Amino acid sequence: MDYHLILQTIKNEIQSLASTGTVATYIPELAKVPPNKFGMHINCMSNGTHSFGDSDERFSIQSISKVFSLTLAMTLMGDELFDRVDVEPSGDPFNSLFQLEHEEGIPRNPFINAGALVISDILISKLKHPKKEFLAFVRKLAKDKSITIDQNVFDSELEHIYRNAALINLMKSFGNIENDIEEVLDLYVYQCAIAMSCAELSKAFEIYANSGSFFNSEEQLITSRKTKRINAIMQTCGFYDEAGEFSFRVGLPGKSGVGGGIVAVHPGQYTVAVWSPPLNPRGNSELGMYALERLTTLTGLSIF
Ligand code: GLU
Repeated sequence: MDYHLILQTIKNEIQSLASTGTVATYIPELAKVPPNKFGMHINCMSNGTHSFGDSDERFSIQSISKVFSLTLAMTLMGDELFDRVDVEPSGDPFNSLFQLEHEEGIPRNPFINAGALVISDILISKLKHPKKEFLAFVRKLAKDKSITIDQNVFDSELEHIYRNAALINLMKSFGNIENDIEEVLDLYVYQCAIAMSCAELSKAFEIYANSGSFFNSEEQLITSRKTKRINAIMQTCGFYDEAGEFSFRVGLPGKSGVGGGIVAVHPGQYTVAVWSPPLNPRGNSELGMYALERLTTLTGLSIF
């Protein structure tokens, strides 16, 4: 498979496209990111790495961090974790309060905001220094100690935390939050403010493409059973209320964030990350989705 040529083809196509999407503005700091940024990096198990554009520039990973926090929580807690958060696609926007009221404070899945807040609550209960240990975990997955948060994005989101504050208060009223609300919001916003490049994200996602181990390594970071489960949740819940459309067009498990990043994995083949800030109406990177659809079409490979 000539991944280099395939990425060149995608690059040429992207250059002739203009996104009709809009950069997220509800976190004001994200609105400052130039909309014409585009990066793509593919990390193959046995075909090297290939990239183009702004693939080495760090951006705000936002909800992509929810995959890392779920993974860490699953290493600290057994199946009882899933008594506190379900594994069903929501079909509603990522910050919706609607189902939470119906389902008595049990979020639909760990990748919508409510679910990720429960995961942050679990991490606070289980870890001595949650922020430090979470960052260390991400650095370990990416094999890069320089990864850190974007302080401006962190401050900006905390200043506009009303919606997530509503979600967590509602869950607290149902008894599904153990810790202090401020502390949980602080950890959640911290994890979302981590900045990483496409190259770094595709490295950090290796374990999901290789049954819990880094590529070409025997070391098991998580069990293959947990990897299977996390990939299943990425497949069904990784793209807000557009998870069906992403499966339909791209056909890979993955996770997006409102910073315009998307990471997808093809188990046994590769991990891939794209970044383009303008989002479609459902909150997913418009050109990022296009590029991934072209990747699975041009390679003829998807998990289906
Ligand atoms: N920090 C963002 C929020 O809670 C994450 C949203 C996302 O990327 O989906 O609104």
